[in-house]
Amino acid sequence: MKIHNIYEAPFIKEMCEATRNLWHNGWAERNGGNISYRLDKEEVAFYLDVERVIDEVDLGFEIKELAGRIFLVSGSGKYFKNVWQNPADNLVILKISEDGRKYQVLWGLETGGVPTSELASHLKCHAVRLQQDPEHRVILHTHSIAISAMTFIHDLDEDKFTKTLWEMITECLVVFPDGVAVLPWMVAGTVALGEASAAKMSDSRIVIWPHHGIMGAGQTMDDAFGLVETAEKAADIYMKAKAAAPNFKQKITDQQLWDLADRFGVVPKAGILSERVTQ
Ligand SMILES: [Zn+2]
Repeated sequence: MKIHNIYEAPFIKEMCEATRNLWHNGWAERNGGNISYRLDKEEVAFYLDVERVIDEVDLGFEIKELAGRIFLVSGSGKYFKNVWQNPADNLVILKISEDGRKYQVLWGLETGGVPTSELASHLKCHAVRLQQDPEHRVILHTHSIAISAMTFIHDLDEDKFTKTLWEMITECLVVFPDGVAVLPWMVAGTVALGEASAAKMSDSRIVIWPHHGIMGAGQTMDDAFGLVETAEKAADIYMKAKAAAPNFKQKITDQQLWDLADRFGVVPKAGILSERVTQ
């Protein structure tokens, strides 16, 4: 097979665009944020010899569910604002070894380095999301501003947090009827944070890390980005409304949220809305 220029690959272009947009949004200061994107062997083989392993590194944990899977991942310490200018230095394509204990570098990190320090979180979340949805592909973590700000003033109970976000924009319930999960504050880059995030991802595609940022999962880059964007927008409206008038004069009611769910055919996460009124 003819090997094509990897810079023409849609997945490289999407990664460049997403990282640049995250930086433009002010959510990816310095080396903040990380993304991993599951790729099919066939699509990668169009651009690379997927059997040619440049380097092999111990993961420090085992993830047999992902053996043989290939991911495009942002590099540790790399700045999102620079990715589009030099993808080969800031990104890496890696394959999980057959025993699930190592990652094998196929491309990228040309001047050295390692994949994101949150690799444990990403891989564990991919494994859980793939069990729920075979089409799942993207895990995106970013330091979105309003969500982080909201974790300082709002109750961290995830059902209360979800309900407040649903009440801020009509679209929210439709975009994330599964709600948001909220973890306690934890040290970044640890396997423990990865395991806690993955446990939450079994029934929610958004996990909030208090005073840190947000993690979103999606079938495509747009899907994951859009999910995070929607939650962040709702949090922004909450913060602005709260600053202007701490006691809201009105909000979207539970009944209106039920009406929305009916109209769009979504099932709100159980236990958040009060009983619906049936006519
Ligand atoms: Zn972070």
